Amino acid sequence: MRRKKFIAGNWKMFKTVAESLAFAREAKGRVDAVEAVQIAVAAPFTALYALAAELKDSRIELAAQNCHYEKEGAFTGEVSAGMLKEIGVKHVLVGHSERRQYFGETNATVNLKVKACLAAGLGVIVCVGEKLDERESGRAFDVVKDHLDGGLAGLSAADFGHIVVAYEPVWAIGTGKTATPAQAQEMHAFIRARIKDAFGPAVAESLRIQYGGSVKPDNVRELMAQPDIDGALVGGASLKPESFEALVKF
Ligand code: PEP
Repeated sequence: MRRKKFIAGNWKMFKTVAESLAFAREAKGRVDAVEAVQIAVAAPFTALYALAAELKDSRIELAAQNCHYEKEGAFTGEVSAGMLKEIGVKHVLVGHSERRQYFGETNATVNLKVKACLAAGLGVIVCVGEKLDERESGRAFDVVKDHLDGGLAGLSAADFGHIVVAYEPVWAIGTGKTATPAQAQEMHAFIRARIKDAFGPAVAESLRIQYGGSVKPDNVRELMAQPDIDGALVGGASLKPESFEALVKF
């Protein structure tokens, strides 16, 4: 099966509303003609509403970087999946390693958030990946298996129409240290095999698995050439329109 490549930018806590809109105005002119690749940017909450209007007729889809798993309630400072859907958001990043490291995200809360997004009609980019010490001690595959089993527990085959997995080795995020294409491919093949065991061959064949971790215009092509790499989740190199364009046009 041919899986459409999916390139998504993760802006993290960068860009004001004005900066986000300036990016959108320039980037859409640069990438809107690219039909072979699905494209998204995950912007800060403050910029999403304005970006939804700016990107309305663009091929750049809008993603959020987090959400809460309850529909509503006394959860000061939180934003629900339904609130994101209301303003035109299409995808939510769930389980990013920075959320796991700094904000107490666990496989259990990832699972609740995935289900909340699906219930709200949103797509989910579920992030998994091992830390450096976990790789060095030979536990990378166990950690990723736990992230998958915990984060995706209880999903149906139909749910996977709205799920993308992003493999992001933590040691490669923002460090300039990319996994080699062979290292990334090895883990992507492992992820697909695990999904096949848990959810069946059709789900595994159609699931898109993005790679993330210091992806740049000069290494994206080699990564995307790997058979089980179906796109990229990109932080730093997604912040400038010209670099974003180069990633999308790998
Ligand atoms: C990320 O934030 O998901 C990421 C992969 O960051 P970077 O591309 O900067 O390593």
